[in-house]
Amino acid sequence: MIETNRVLRSVVACPLCRGGLDAKWSCALCGRVFSTVEGRPVLTTDVGGDVVKDNAVIRAQARERTGARRAGLRGVADRLRDAMTADLFGDDRTQVRALVDAVAGTIPEGCPVVDVGACEQYYRAQLDRLGPVLALDVALYGATDVVADAHAMPFKSDSLGGIVVIEVLEHLRRPWQFFAEAQRTLTKGGVLMGVAPQYCPTHGFPNDYFRYTKSGLASLAESHGLEVEALWPVGGRWATLLHWYWANHARENPLRRVAGIGVAYHGWFQGVAKALEALDEREGRGGGAPSGEHQDHVGWSFVFRKR
Ligand SMILES: [Zn+2]
Repeated sequence: MIETNRVLRSVVACPLCRGGLDAKWSCALCGRVFSTVEGRPVLTTDVGGDVVKDNAVIRAQARERTGARRAGLRGVADRLRDAMTADLFGDDRTQVRALVDAVAGTIPEGCPVVDVGACEQYYRAQLDRLGPVLALDVALYGATDVVADAHAMPFKSDSLGGIVVIEVLEHLRRPWQFFAEAQRTLTKGGVLMGVAPQYCPTHGFPNDYFRYTKSGLASLAESHGLEVEALWPVGGRWATLLHWYWANHARENPLRRVAGIGVAYHGWFQGVAKALEALDEREGRGGGAPSGEHQDHVGWSFVFRKR
């Protein structure tokens, strides 16, 4: 925690005016005084419009988001179900591993990496390979180092070695504003990397605004001075189709509520999805490899670099 605090202090700045912040998180330039919740600074503005302002609400929402598993045998069933669906359509964990492999050794030395929309930092183990990691979110989770808004990043210009956004861009009201902030806060050679959905059920939190095509992501990067270093599809044709089916039909099947049957149902779905995806892979149009003309996928993984 002391080490994290030292890292945060080395890059932090007022999200309103970019002035320096003193030991009590007050801005030396504009005078704005920021609060803390459970020892973590809340460096938010009204820029993004989705920042949760009430600290009790922040904590309640965080608990609701992370404590969804039930107790006892039903909890065991929940765990099994989670394990069965985790890897359904090109699992984020697999993607994060590929992203980290793609940039490992190229992050400017001594510059921290910020995990934006980190929630409980599910990918911490992989991201730690890149250097010191700071967890940023609009709500306070156990793992959060700083509560802030991606539309107004509380960091000095040219200070970050990396910014990670795993399934986050769809939750930003004005993603172009975030890209401008990424360009500003990344140091030369730093990377913006992540996963963004193209076909994905509408979901929280705090809200869901956008979907991304390959061209759209590349355009956002290039128009903000970031070079497209890698951009690969996640999930093939079948996964895309089944993703819709899962979100709009299968997930609401009442049989799922019966313990045991629910787990088997997930297993069956997982099996069908995997088999169809394997067919797609054999045709060379799957989730792992760039697919020529085929442009429709569950999502895209990307590495954009500031030159
Ligand atoms: Zn200020």
